[in-house]
Amino acid sequence: MHESGRRGAQSEAHPRRGLAYNPFFFRRIEMKKTKPFPVAVRVVPVAAKPRAKYSCEKCPGYCCTYSDIEITRRDIERLARHFKVDYARAEQRYTKPDAKGKARLLRHRQDSIFESACMFFDQDKRRCTVYEARPGVCRKYPDSTRCGYYDFLVFEREQQGNDEYIALT
Ligand code: SF4
Ligand code: SF4
Repeated sequence: MHESGRRGAQSEAHPRRGLAYNPFFFRRIEMKKTKPFPVAVRVVPVAAKPRAKYSCEKCPGYCCTYSDIEITRRDIERLARHFKVDYARAEQRYTKPDAKGKARLLRHRQDSIFESACMFFDQDKRRCTVYEARPGVCRKYPDSTRCGYYDFLVFEREQQGNDEYIALT
Protein backbone atom coordinates (compact mmCIF):
# COMPACT_ATOMS: atom_id res chain seq x y z
CA MET A 1 0.00 0.00 0.00
CA HIS A 2 1.14 3.50 -0.70
CA GLU A 3 2.51 5.41 2.37
CA SER A 4 -0.07 8.20 2.17
CA GLY A 5 -2.85 5.65 1.68
CA ARG A 6 -1.99 3.87 4.98
CA ARG A 7 -2.33 7.09 6.89
CA GLY A 8 -5.50 8.03 5.06
CA ALA A 9 -4.02 11.32 3.85
CA GLN A 10 -2.73 12.73 0.65
CA SER A 11 0.82 14.08 0.53
CA GLU A 12 1.36 17.24 -1.41
CA ALA A 13 4.06 19.87 -1.72
CA HIS A 14 4.36 22.19 1.27
CA PRO A 15 3.50 25.65 0.06
CA ARG A 16 6.58 27.29 1.58
CA ARG A 17 9.29 24.62 1.77
CA GLY A 18 8.50 22.49 -1.22
CA LEU A 19 8.50 19.32 0.99
CA ALA A 20 5.94 16.51 0.88
CA TYR A 21 3.05 17.96 2.87
CA ASN A 22 1.09 15.66 5.20
CA PRO A 23 -1.87 17.64 6.65
CA PHE A 24 -2.13 15.40 9.78
CA PHE A 25 1.51 15.97 10.69
CA PHE A 26 1.19 19.72 10.43
CA ARG A 27 -2.11 19.73 12.29
CA ARG A 28 -0.37 17.98 15.21
CA ILE A 29 2.27 20.68 15.31
CA GLU A 30 -0.37 23.41 15.17
CA MET A 31 -2.26 21.81 18.09
CA LYS A 32 0.89 21.67 20.20
CA LYS A 33 1.50 25.32 19.50
CA THR A 34 -1.76 26.24 21.17
CA LYS A 35 -0.20 25.45 24.59
CA PRO A 36 2.98 27.31 25.49
CA PHE A 37 5.86 25.18 26.64
CA PRO A 38 7.10 25.20 29.32
CA VAL A 39 3.67 25.70 30.84
CA ALA A 40 3.74 28.70 33.14
CA VAL A 41 3.21 27.60 36.76
CA ARG A 42 1.99 29.96 39.41
CA VAL A 43 4.17 29.54 42.47
CA VAL A 44 2.23 29.96 45.69
CA PRO A 45 4.61 30.93 48.53
CA VAL A 46 4.53 28.50 51.47
CA ALA A 47 3.99 30.26 54.77
CA ALA A 48 7.25 30.42 56.69
CA LYS A 49 7.33 28.27 59.82
CA PRO A 50 6.82 30.49 62.87
CA ARG A 51 10.04 30.92 64.82
CA ALA A 52 10.27 29.26 68.22
CA LYS A 53 10.60 31.74 71.08
CA TYR A 54 12.38 29.29 73.36
CA SER A 55 15.77 27.64 73.38
CA CYS A 56 16.16 24.07 74.60
CA GLU A 57 19.92 24.70 74.52
CA LYS A 58 19.57 27.13 77.43
CA CYS A 59 17.12 24.98 79.40
CA PRO A 60 17.84 22.26 81.95
CA GLY A 61 15.43 19.96 80.10
CA TYR A 62 12.41 20.48 82.27
CA CYS A 63 9.98 18.73 79.90
CA CYS A 64 12.04 15.52 80.11
CA THR A 65 11.26 15.42 83.82
CA TYR A 66 7.48 15.21 83.39
CA SER A 67 6.36 12.13 85.25
CA ASP A 68 3.89 10.81 82.66
CA ILE A 69 5.45 10.81 79.20
CA GLU A 70 3.08 8.57 77.30
CA ILE A 71 4.39 6.71 74.32
CA THR A 72 2.81 4.66 71.56
CA ARG A 73 3.43 1.25 70.08
CA ARG A 74 5.23 2.92 67.17
CA ASP A 75 7.53 4.74 69.61
CA ILE A 76 8.39 1.44 71.29
CA GLU A 77 9.11 -0.14 67.91
CA ARG A 78 11.45 2.76 67.09
CA LEU A 79 13.27 2.39 70.39
CA ALA A 80 13.51 -1.39 69.84
CA ARG A 81 15.15 -0.79 66.45
CA HIS A 82 17.47 1.81 67.93
CA PHE A 83 18.68 -0.53 70.67
CA LYS A 84 18.47 -3.63 68.44
CA VAL A 85 16.19 -5.51 70.79
CA ASP A 86 12.78 -7.03 70.21
CA TYR A 87 9.53 -5.21 70.96
CA ALA A 88 8.77 -7.06 74.20
CA ARG A 89 12.20 -6.32 75.60
CA ALA A 90 12.02 -2.63 74.64
CA GLU A 91 8.59 -2.32 76.22
CA GLN A 92 9.77 -3.96 79.42
CA ARG A 93 13.09 -2.09 79.63
CA TYR A 94 12.07 1.41 78.65
CA THR A 95 8.43 1.75 79.60
CA LYS A 96 6.08 1.19 82.50
CA PRO A 97 2.27 1.10 82.70
CA ASP A 98 0.35 4.21 83.74
CA ALA A 99 -1.75 4.24 86.91
CA LYS A 100 -4.77 2.78 85.12
CA GLY A 101 -2.70 0.20 83.24
CA LYS A 102 -3.99 1.47 79.91
CA ALA A 103 -0.98 3.32 78.50
CA ARG A 104 2.79 2.98 78.50
CA LEU A 105 5.01 5.70 79.99
CA LEU A 106 8.74 6.26 79.65
CA ARG A 107 10.61 4.93 82.65
CA HIS A 108 12.27 7.46 84.96
CA ARG A 109 15.35 7.73 87.13
CA GLN A 110 16.14 10.06 89.96
CA ASP A 111 17.33 13.43 88.64
CA SER A 112 20.09 15.62 90.02
CA ILE A 113 17.97 18.81 89.72
CA PHE A 114 14.32 17.89 89.53
CA GLU A 115 12.66 14.98 91.27
CA SER A 116 13.15 12.52 88.43
CA ALA A 117 13.74 12.48 84.68
CA CYS A 118 13.23 10.20 81.73
CA MET A 119 15.70 7.31 81.75
CA PHE A 120 17.11 8.53 78.42
CA PHE A 121 18.00 11.96 79.76
CA ASP A 122 21.70 12.70 80.17
CA GLN A 123 21.82 14.46 83.53
CA ASP A 124 25.24 16.03 83.02
CA LYS A 125 24.66 17.43 79.55
CA ARG A 126 20.93 17.89 80.18
CA ARG A 127 20.18 16.40 76.77
CA CYS A 128 18.30 13.47 75.25
CA THR A 129 20.50 10.45 74.53
CA VAL A 130 18.09 8.91 72.03
CA TYR A 131 17.33 12.05 70.06
CA GLU A 132 17.03 10.28 66.69
CA ALA A 133 14.77 7.61 68.18
CA ARG A 134 12.84 9.80 70.62
CA PRO A 135 9.07 9.27 70.88
CA GLY A 136 6.55 11.28 68.90
CA VAL A 137 5.39 13.26 71.91
CA CYS A 138 8.97 14.51 72.48
CA ARG A 139 9.19 15.55 68.81
CA LYS A 140 6.00 17.58 69.00
CA TYR A 141 6.51 19.26 72.36
CA PRO A 142 5.77 22.10 73.07
CA ASP A 143 3.75 22.20 69.82
CA SER A 144 3.76 25.99 69.93
CA THR A 145 6.14 28.87 69.36
CA ARG A 146 6.35 29.31 73.14
CA CYS A 147 7.26 27.02 75.98
CA GLY A 148 5.68 27.87 79.34
CA TYR A 149 8.64 26.66 81.36
CA TYR A 150 11.10 28.58 79.19
CA ASP A 151 9.18 31.84 79.67
CA PHE A 152 9.24 31.21 83.41
CA LEU A 153 12.97 30.40 83.29
CA VAL A 154 13.79 33.61 81.40
CA PHE A 155 11.74 35.65 83.85
CA GLU A 156 13.47 34.07 86.87
CA ARG A 157 16.92 34.51 85.35
CA GLU A 158 16.23 38.18 84.77
CA GLN A 159 14.99 38.57 88.34
CA GLN A 160 18.05 36.81 89.73
CA GLY A 161 20.46 38.53 87.34
CA ASN A 162 21.93 35.11 86.65
CA ASP A 163 21.86 33.46 83.21
CA GLU A 164 22.64 30.08 84.74
CA TYR A 165 19.88 30.13 87.33
CA ILE A 166 17.65 27.05 87.25
CA ALA A 167 14.06 27.75 88.09
CA LEU A 168 12.34 24.99 90.06
CA THR A 169 8.58 24.81 89.89
S1 SF4 B 1 11.04 22.69 78.80
FE1 SF4 B 1 10.79 23.86 76.91
S2 SF4 B 1 12.74 24.92 76.57
FE2 SF4 B 1 13.06 23.28 78.06
S3 SF4 B 1 13.81 21.52 76.86
FE3 SF4 B 1 11.57 21.34 77.08
S4 SF4 B 1 10.72 22.36 75.26
FE4 SF4 B 1 12.85 22.99 75.44
S1 SF4 C 1 13.08 10.43 75.15
FE1 SF4 C 1 14.52 12.10 75.12
S2 SF4 C 1 13.33 13.92 74.63
FE2 SF4 C 1 11.89 12.31 75.28
S3 SF4 C 1 11.60 12.65 77.47
FE3 SF4 C 1 13.25 11.18 77.23
S4 SF4 C 1 15.14 12.36 77.27
FE4 SF4 C 1 13.44 13.77 76.87
